[in-house]
Amino acid sequence: MLVVMEKGTSEEKIQAAINAIKKRGYTARPIPGGDRVSIGILHNKGSVDATHFLGLGGVKEVIPVTKPYKLVSREFKQKNTHIKVGDAVFGNGSFPVIAGPCAVESETQVLSIAKSVKNAGAKLFRGGAFKPRTSPYSFQGLGKIGLVFLAKVREETGLPIVTEVMDVENFNLVEEYTDIIQIGTRNMQNFSLLRCAGKSDRPVILKRGMSATLQEWLMAAEYIMEEGNNNVILCERGIRTFVRHSRNTLDLSVVAAAKKESHLPIIIDPSHAAGVRDQVISLACASAALGADGVMIEVHNNPEEAMSDGAQSLYPDQFVKVMEKMNAIHAIVRK
Ligand code: PEP
Ligand code: MN
Repeated sequence: MLVVMEKGTSEEKIQAAINAIKKRGYTARPIPGGDRVSIGILHNKGSVDATHFLGLGGVKEVIPVTKPYKLVSREFKQKNTHIKVGDAVFGNGSFPVIAGPCAVESETQVLSIAKSVKNAGAKLFRGGAFKPRTSPYSFQGLGKIGLVFLAKVREETGLPIVTEVMDVENFNLVEEYTDIIQIGTRNMQNFSLLRCAGKSDRPVILKRGMSATLQEWLMAAEYIMEEGNNNVILCERGIRTFVRHSRNTLDLSVVAAAKKESHLPIIIDPSHAAGVRDQVISLACASAALGADGVMIEVHNNPEEAMSDGAQSLYPDQFVKVMEKMNAIHAIVRK
């Protein structure tokens, strides 16, 4: 249920409506942004009787929310959420690009890649210090020292950092070093981790689980928002299908579907969807054409020797070219 206040309603009336909601045992959550203040009603068991709130001063209307997710939904908030990190804004029609290697391997590796992606126009740097690997025998990431190298990248290039947090134990450590917390596909329904991220003041990139429906994905985002963090960026990274020609199948249609259901920005990771670099280029261009709110792309200075995901990592000169293509497509689509 959403209690919509009249435009320009006084603070006292808003507070009175909040108190009336709380008195009934519900949580009242004012929704930021939009033309007028709306107050979401959460934690109601069963339906809420609108007549309790309709007669209150300053209340324009009371709208039932039909979706299982609330805070993430367009029903709760019509206007797109804008999330600003450094020079980048996600959700305002621009097309910020996050680029960097799959894994942090050394200080020289991340600094070299960061300088080249920054020159090509990337707005944020990515790199995993804690890596969720399918095999326990694969490189697991450098851990804390990897985070220190990422901090060095920020210091030297000014690029904000995106890195994955894999578990609750390391949450505070990763949070301390990163500008955006990434929750990976394998953790999309790690509810304790989602709650930790919800208590953070850092924006969160929430990757879609590899077999998750849009509804399950949005419910995962709801966990983060329910804890108080409104800055969630959805990231489509391909889903598991029967095909063998790519690592995953990029679900292009989910961008329009997610935008219809939710006010949250949605970006695309063509690298993990494709698994091979030739496909990354065309999927990155498609992402710009679709009206996604940005992309995250893996780039490596020496992909043949990469400790993870070398086959899908672009060479720095390929990244320059794909940036040019994406920018040209975005400029047309934005008109
Ligand atoms: C990553 O971005 O480093 C990653 C592991 O991706 P995903 O969670 O999408 O597999
Ligand atoms: Mn990777």
